[in-house]
Amino acid sequence: MNTTISTKRKLFIYLLYVSLSCLITITLNIIHTVYVLRIDITGVSFAIPTLAGIMFGFMLAHIKSLSAQLSTMAFTDSLTKIYNRLHFAHFLDAEIDKAKRYGTTFSIIFFDLDNFKKVNDNYGHMAGDEVLEQITRIVSKANRSADIFARYGGEEFIILTPETNASGAMAHAERLRSDIENYHFKGVGQVTSSFGVTEFDAEHDTLESLMDRADKALYLAKDYGRNRVERA
Ligand code: GH3
Ligand code: MG
Ligand code: MG
Repeated sequence: MNTTISTKRKLFIYLLYVSLSCLITITLNIIHTVYVLRIDITGVSFAIPTLAGIMFGFMLAHIKSLSAQLSTMAFTDSLTKIYNRLHFAHFLDAEIDKAKRYGTTFSIIFFDLDNFKKVNDNYGHMAGDEVLEQITRIVSKANRSADIFARYGGEEFIILTPETNASGAMAHAERLRSDIENYHFKGVGQVTSSFGVTEFDAEHDTLESLMDRADKALYLAKDYGRNRVERA
């Protein structure tokens, strides 16, 4: 998922708004000069509306760019650039509606880094931040494009896997666990993580009961010794 506006796209928006704005102001000015004032068109007929068009277009593009930045900030986690917990809840709500209405299924993979406090204590908070960013890259690479991946809290992450039953989600979680375990984090070394997996039950589940079960599964994985996947 790419949630940031690229410089190229930003430049395109500014150019588009300035060009359109100039086109409108120049056209209006020509119409006004020829049909209302009934005088000849001179260089001034272009210079002033062009200047006004540039200023107006720039202002509009700036507002557009700021509002895009604001919505990005509202939906994403500032460190990892993946969805935040609030936005994840919107996707989860929608997926629950879909599952109840159309009888589809989906699963939740909830995971937490093991003994992460020690990473911060031993290597510093900055190194801890880099681990969180790298974990995001590892997981994003392994996820399917339909998976919804979010930072749930400090060192806790969550994935919604649409059209996936518990055994499919277990297999995916196992792959993620292994990918993380086998990655050498620069300056830190090995980091492991514990996973809780659960499948939505359209007949009995609510958002709360589903999340509660995912949380319980994660606690089981911690209780059984960490660096493992458990299901509830
Ligand atoms: P457990 O295996 O039981 O999960 O142990 P833990 O040490 O990972 O769990 P604990 O809840 O004791 O500590 C979580 C740590 O995660 C403490 C906190 O400083 C760290 N953390 C949370 N958010 C961030 C962050 O944004 N950056 C960094 N560097 N550390 C964070
Ligand atoms: Mg932890
Ligand atoms: Mg935690």
